[in-house]
Amino acid sequence: MRLTGAVVLVTGASSGIGAAVVRRLARDGSHVVAAGRDAARLDRLASETGATTLLTDLSRPHAGRELAERALARHARVDVLVNNAGLGWAGPFGGMADPLADELLAVNLRAPIELTRALLPSMCHRGGHLVFVGSIAGRLGVDGEAVYAATKAGLDAFAQSLRLELASRHVAVSMVVPGVVDTPFFARRGQPYRRRIPRPLAPERVADALADAILRDRAEVYVPGWLRLPVAVRGVLPAVYRRLASRFG
Ligand code: NAP
Repeated sequence: MRLTGAVVLVTGASSGIGAAVVRRLARDGSHVVAAGRDAARLDRLASETGATTLLTDLSRPHAGRELAERALARHARVDVLVNNAGLGWAGPFGGMADPLADELLAVNLRAPIELTRALLPSMCHRGGHLVFVGSIAGRLGVDGEAVYAATKAGLDAFAQSLRLELASRHVAVSMVVPGVVDTPFFARRGQPYRRRIPRPLAPERVADALADAILRDRAEVYVPGWLRLPVAVRGVLPAVYRRLASRFG
C-alpha cells in the first residue's frame, strides 16, 4: 500500500499516538481523516497537517458504523483504517465500576469491529489496509489491568483472524503492539506510570512503526522490538514466564 494519496481514517487522532500517526501520514502525502472527541485539539492538528476532522464518541452504540458512513460520505473511499482510539483503567478488578468496563469494551473493541465491518466491503472491492493498535497488555496480561488487557487481547484475536480470512481479498491487516508510550494515556486512566523500566517511548516511534507496517504489509510490529521476547518466553515456557511475571510484574 502506498501512503501518498491514500485516504486514511485515524481514530483517537486528538492525542498521543493517534496525533503522531496523523502527522507522520500527512507528511507522507496521505489524505488523513482525523477522528476524535476533542474538537479544539483536532482543529489545531488539522491546521498543522491539512487533515480533515470528524467528531465522534466511540463509546456510543453504533458510533463506529456511523463514523465509517460519514467518512465514506465525505471522501468516497477509505483506503486505510487505523483503529487507534482507546482508554485504560488500572486497579483491582473488583473495584472497577460496570459503566467503566462497558466503556473500555465499547471504545477498545466494539468500535474497531463496527468500523471494520462498515469499511470492509469497499476495501474488498478496491483493496485496503486495516491497522489495529493493540498493547503488550493484550499479549501478556497485566496485574491490575484485567479488562484493558482483555479488550486488547480480543482486538489481537480479531486482527489475526481477519488477516487469515482476508489474505486472498487484497485487504492487509497489521497489528501494532506498543509497550509503554509517553502520552496522556496514564494520566487519563487515573494512575500514572511509575516503573523505571521499560522507559516510555515517544509516540512518534509508534507512528513510524505503524507507517512501516502499512508500507511493508507487516502482520505485527512490536514497539520496541524486544517486547517479542517476553511473549516468546510465555509461549514456550509458560510456567517460567508466570514465575517471572509474579516477581517482576
Ligand atoms: P491518549 O493520548 O489518551 O489518546 C487516546 C485517544 O483515544 C484520544 O484521541 C481519545 O480522544 C481517544 N478516545 C478515548 N475515548 C474515546 C471515545 N469514547 N470516543 C472517541 N475517541 C476516544 O492515549 P494513547 O497512548 O495515544 O493511546 C492510543 C492507543 O494506544 C490506545 O488504544 C491505547 O490503548 C494504545 N496503547 C497505549 C500505550 C501507552 O503506553 N500510551 C501502550 C500500549 C497501547 P479524545 O482525546 O478526543 O478524548
